[in-house]
Amino acid sequence: MNKNIKRTVLVILFIILILIIVFAFINKSWQKGSPNGFSDNYPVKNVIIMVPDGCSISLQTLARWKKGEALTLDSLLVGAVKTYMANSIITGSAAAVTAFATGNKTTVGFLSVGPRAEDVLSTFEHPGPKMEYRPLATVLEGAKMKDKATGLVATSTICHATPAGFACHVDNRNKYNEITEQMVYENLDVAFAGGKQHLLPKTEGGARTDGENLLKVLLDKGYRFVETNEEMSNITSGKVWGLFAENHMKANIARLEFAPEQPSLAEMTSKAIELLSQDKDGFFLMVEGSQIDWAGHANDLIYMVTDFLEFDEAVRVAFDFARKDKNTLLLVFPDHNCGALSIGHGDTKKPYSETKIEDLIGPLEKMKVTAGAITANLDSDHSYANLSKEISQWWGIDITKDDYNEIKILTREIAKRNNTVDSLARAISRVISKNYTVFGWTSDNHTGEDVPLWTYGPNRPVGLYDNTDLAKITAKALGFSLEDINKELFIEAGEVYPDYNLDKSDTANPVLKINSFELPINKNLLIADGKAHELNGIVVYAPVTEKVYIPMDAVQLMERLKE
Ligand SMILES: [Zn+2]
Repeated sequence: MNKNIKRTVLVILFIILILIIVFAFINKSWQKGSPNGFSDNYPVKNVIIMVPDGCSISLQTLARWKKGEALTLDSLLVGAVKTYMANSIITGSAAAVTAFATGNKTTVGFLSVGPRAEDVLSTFEHPGPKMEYRPLATVLEGAKMKDKATGLVATSTICHATPAGFACHVDNRNKYNEITEQMVYENLDVAFAGGKQHLLPKTEGGARTDGENLLKVLLDKGYRFVETNEEMSNITSGKVWGLFAENHMKANIARLEFAPEQPSLAEMTSKAIELLSQDKDGFFLMVEGSQIDWAGHANDLIYMVTDFLEFDEAVRVAFDFARKDKNTLLLVFPDHNCGALSIGHGDTKKPYSETKIEDLIGPLEKMKVTAGAITANLDSDHSYANLSKEISQWWGIDITKDDYNEIKILTREIAKRNNTVDSLARAISRVISKNYTVFGWTSDNHTGEDVPLWTYGPNRPVGLYDNTDLAKITAKALGFSLEDINKELFIEAGEVYPDYNLDKSDTANPVLKINSFELPINKNLLIADGKAHELNGIVVYAPVTEKVYIPMDAVQLMERLKE
């Protein structure tokens, strides 16, 4: 008897010991994936996505040399992201944002709608005819459904591809009227960028062709609207739109001199976090360093590295918040590479084995403006005397007659390929890079390599991911499934109401009519007996398929109001 009890006690002790070892082991492996001892907080409260548009790891290297010390991003580097889109192994910005905002690959130029049937790579299967042009729910829309505050920050116009992809659904990224309208009716809590002209109708000095005054709509909704850094800094709570330029904001290198009233990307990020973090349910924020991509297209070294260093400052702001908060997932990645900058190039007179820091940084130290600013100074005098004077003054390089001839030939070549860009600025940048620096460029467009992934926070992703995975990771971290949000937000109207009618008598402002109800396209409104009811999602029209999508909210409200 005694012996039996002893044996049982021993067995129990043995089992407890095994359990302790197993738990300790599991705990250890959890800690491995979560830096700085994060607990297994999941889902997290906040997600911040930050996109240095159009760059790759080579720019991180260059920026570190230029700064002379480690970047904030250096401590966050954990993996890479695949960037191809539905119809090409090299993505455009609109298809890229669709991937990481919605979890779906799509066609070039499409913003958060499904791909055309014919636009698929051999390795990529089309999601089916029902998905063609269908609006795809974004992580920002999902965050809103979880009662979280939402914000978008960029240095382009607010309706430019990357911010737009989180808060609109259109089949062409250039439809700025429709995009801005949808973004206004998405009820974002914070929007900081450029692009004021897209809020106002042409009759009031804006760019809108539909006669709408969206600034008035914002003010009627109770938003504050700010246009300078000072006005922005005075806001301490509530919902705000800040558009700091009619069009895009200034390049960071030119901001303090030519537009000192504009906030920096880091200042906008800081204010956005301060405002959004007051929501007890948490927040979703996307911050884009928009112009890094444009500098890549222009092969403009100084423009690219200074905008990237400012982006790193914005990352430091977000990282400081996440570190203190401990309940924020920070995901940072470019949408694609652009220009394919290399450190070292085949035509340089400098052997690779003798490249000093001074060879790398020396030319950049003398560059005070972007190449675009140099060409703007030329007026129409493109002579050797004038061009060499400006380049000497602003970039500290005395070009030869041979350089000048090379610039002339390249300008003509670039203009032939693309007549919408400043071909002279591109040619200057390219020739100076080749003849006076150790930097190479293989393209003046996007390129298709994997891009770096920088992350921080609970259960941060580490390794190689597809860009679509990042939307799924964000949704999971915030505690929702994009599949559910899609079912909530986008019901094809014809499937529920076969008798619906799309009234296009006002071509710029179509209205969906269901019985006596009216649902204006691009808004979150249902009008019944002259009274407007707010919906939790936008009414979206796909012109190619002629389908209209409405939120489940609208269906339920119409059924209730009918009774
Ligand atoms: Zn681009």
